[in-house]
Amino acid sequence: MKAAVFHSADRPLEVEEVPDPTPGPTDLVVEVRCCGICGSDLHAASQPGGLPKGCVMGHEFSGEVVEVGGEVRGKFRPGDRVTAVPGIGCGSCSDCLSGDVMHCAALEITGLGQLPGAYAQYVRVGSNESVRLPESVDFPLGALVEPLAVGLHAVKAAALEPGQDVLVMGAGPIGLAVILWSRFLGARHILVSEPANGRRAMATALGATAVAEGTDAAAEILADRPGGGADIIFECVGKPGLLAQSVKVAAPRSKVVVAGLCMRPDNFVPGVAVVKELRLEFVLAYHKADFQLTLDMLDAGRIDPWPMVTDRIDLAGLPQVFEALKNPADQCKVLVEF
Ligand SMILES: [Zn+2]
Ligand SMILES: [Zn+2]
Repeated sequence: MKAAVFHSADRPLEVEEVPDPTPGPTDLVVEVRCCGICGSDLHAASQPGGLPKGCVMGHEFSGEVVEVGGEVRGKFRPGDRVTAVPGIGCGSCSDCLSGDVMHCAALEITGLGQLPGAYAQYVRVGSNESVRLPESVDFPLGALVEPLAVGLHAVKAAALEPGQDVLVMGAGPIGLAVILWSRFLGARHILVSEPANGRRAMATALGATAVAEGTDAAAEILADRPGGGADIIFECVGKPGLLAQSVKVAAPRSKVVVAGLCMRPDNFVPGVAVVKELRLEFVLAYHKADFQLTLDMLDAGRIDPWPMVTDRIDLAGLPQVFEALKNPADQCKVLVEF
């Protein structure tokens, strides 16, 4: 099959022939029909040593089942349209059984260097991790379920109540998904800080009630509001300094939810958080139930993530577009269609 293969951080991806996947007993092989490009892919591919040579990325995908492992037993059949949590767990631990596959001790992650991902014609997924697409959800929407589920998981962790005010830092795909679900769950004001013009426009399209170029400007808007700030701050950027900034601008008794993945130290003064009695939450990925709820709401037409999609390309065009996305642009979610 054809796949876009990573060789090194200083070389573009290359579309080349690689072996077809074969399913283990509880696996499916999916013919990929659509796969989103994720910021984590761009980040991992830009870091020297961030990915092993020869790996195939792509973890936001949808497609059609073409092969079924021997122990899947009728749960899925060839021709089923699916998306999947991008990783294969053991299938029997309490985390796997509860749908929290991302915390399975035996988890192998798809598309970031362990299991091959979906920048390819076919991808191997776990049947336990797979979810059927409702008829009304096409493959491009199916590929948006993963980033939407990240946002849903963060907003659920925040226990957002109707009428609360939120500040979302960063309007990349995660921030945009947080905005979408905050509106869905009844936030009153959704203030967004984001330096890129195009992304601020997307934030507005997805439900932001006010946008600011940076966190300081956002903090000023907040300071002018009755009560002096948001009930919940979502940090959706993952750069050093933003946790400290969240704690600084947070209102007394508010909550800071960290969805950005920052791998460098971010110092803040605990006393500042203590004086305000802040609550801090850190969230990772999603549960399988977040995929299902996202699909149900897409099926019902109750959420519309299209404003975050800025381009649709094919596999041959992926290496060039992938390089371009490494530099800041007004692009947001780019979908690769097969
Ligand atoms: Zn992703
Ligand atoms: Zn497990």
